[in-house]
Order: sequence, then C-alpha cells, then structure tokens
Amino acid sequence: MGEPDVGPSTSSAHLQTPALRSAKAVHLGYQCDSCLAEPIVGIRWHCLECRGAFTVDLCDECREEGTFETERHRDTHSFQARREAEMEPYYANEVASMALREYSYLA
Ligand SMILES: [Zn+2]
Ligand SMILES: [Zn+2]
Repeated sequence: MGEPDVGPSTSSAHLQTPALRSAKAVHLGYQCDSCLAEPIVGIRWHCLECRGAFTVDLCDECREEGTFETERHRDTHSFQARREAEMEPYYANEVASMALREYSYLA
C-alpha cells in the first residue's frame, strides 16, 4: 500500500550541448612541461624567461595551478599566453604580415 512518493526529484541538470564552437587551438609539437600533455590544447603558456634549451610551455590548467618549477624555471617568471596555434613557418610569415596589416586598422 504505502507506495512512496517519487523521492527527491533528481533534477537532472539539463546538459545542453553548447552550439558555440569552442575553437581551441591545438599546439602541435608543444608538450606541457608539467603534466606532459601533448599537444597542448587551448592556451599555451610560454615562459618568456626560460629560453634556448630550457623553454617552458604549460597548458592552461598547469599554469593556473602555478606549481610547476624546475631548477631554472620559477612560477614568478613571466608567461605569454598563446591562444592561437603557430603554423608552419613558411606559412606563418605570410599570415603574420597579413595579420599585421589588418591589426593596424584596429589600432
Ligand atoms: Zn599541463
Ligand atoms: Zn621560466
């Protein structure tokens, strides 16, 4: 008889697949020095102070954690956010010069 009412309604969070196209850059050839994810997807954080053989690139998550340090790299170093994947060098030159021209309009 005592059939229980439907319990606390499991309000299933309505998972909508966002129609927004999240164009995440894929940084082919770059590996996160902290979690070793390769390629880095999304924002690539490039250390501006570790150069040469000691370049440091981090994925967004590891940069946020801010715990990655090496003998040379400190979390206090300046990072540059690279939101767009770099293209093949020969192609990049062309695009970069075009981009520069376009950016000058925005200034
Ligand atoms: Zn990482
Ligand atoms: Zn560094």
